[in-house]
Amino acid sequence: MADFYGTWKEDTYVCGKCGWTGTGEQCTQGEMFNDLYEIDCPSCGKRVDVVLYPTIKESRANWEKVSDADKAMIEAREQFIKEAESRCLESPEELPEVKGEVLIFVWDQHKYEKNRDDTVITYGKQVICTEPAFYEGYDRFIEVAEILKKRYGDRFIDLIPAERSGNYLYGDRISAPQIIEEYRDRLSRRESAIEESQSNSEKVSDVGKTVFQTALEQAMRRLASRSAEVKKRIQPREQYLNQTEPQPLKSPEQLPEIEEDEFILVWDEEASQNYRGTVIRYGNEIIWREFSPSSRPDRFEEIAQILGQRYGGRLKDLAPTRRSEINLERDRGDGLSVNKTIGKVWMNQY
Ligand SMILES: [Zn+2]
Repeated sequence: MADFYGTWKEDTYVCGKCGWTGTGEQCTQGEMFNDLYEIDCPSCGKRVDVVLYPTIKESRANWEKVSDADKAMIEAREQFIKEAESRCLESPEELPEVKGEVLIFVWDQHKYEKNRDDTVITYGKQVICTEPAFYEGYDRFIEVAEILKKRYGDRFIDLIPAERSGNYLYGDRISAPQIIEEYRDRLSRRESAIEESQSNSEKVSDVGKTVFQTALEQAMRRLASRSAEVKKRIQPREQYLNQTEPQPLKSPEQLPEIEEDEFILVWDEEASQNYRGTVIRYGNEIIWREFSPSSRPDRFEEIAQILGQRYGGRLKDLAPTRRSEINLERDRGDGLSVNKTIGKVWMNQY
């Protein structure tokens, strides 16, 4: 193995196959890889050595040996790294104030310059932060999520890679999607642990009620313990309890207008002990909420279609939170294919 700026050009090589003898400079260039290339015997083509590409530091240390073209490339690369570092999120203090009790962010990707992309983290129409996108940047994904956790604490429960940022984020690393999923699982579990401890502390007798009534009663009990002002607002209690369960979305007219040229909606599920509901979120706004019977795993596709009818091509993605994705997978009984199915539904539509 030879260093790029080492003495390999002058060194003598003997071909192990045909016996050719000569200097490294006389060899032909063989196959190229990420970090090195092969040099081959000019007579029979057998590999005689590999040469490591130099790091920027090594090039700088051997600057007089660097060709003008390489010099220009290295300088551009240095400039890029310097600029990229200066634009990267470093500390929680750089992050803005965000409203809402449940914070689910989207990891999206936008054009920055002709050949460069930015990672843009959004919460509805609010941009949380922007930095250069890194190819195979799944390590960076986790670093950034950790900074978000420091800033937003337990309110922050998910960071969803948008479909269109996935290719770049995962790159050629086959295990990358799984690394990110496992990280997001830990983020979501952290939150469900909080929910469980809360609901366990207010155990009630739920016999004979629909799950929706039970969920409502629990919510009202929490509210009722707050203030007289709130109590006044939630009277009469019966009126709330007689409400029917949230109806399923049927037509695009039921959905509110969103005045953006393009946006991504989040598919989420909220669950307590007895209640499970689907929630379509846009930042802190709730676009739609309905009861979610576990017997309807194809509901994702139906809702995606109605959203598509309402918002057309302006809607760029319907990104499932990790906690809802786990349930979607469970319902289908086929964890492996659900991501593909979700991706496909989306691709087919637009
Ligand atoms: Zn040879």
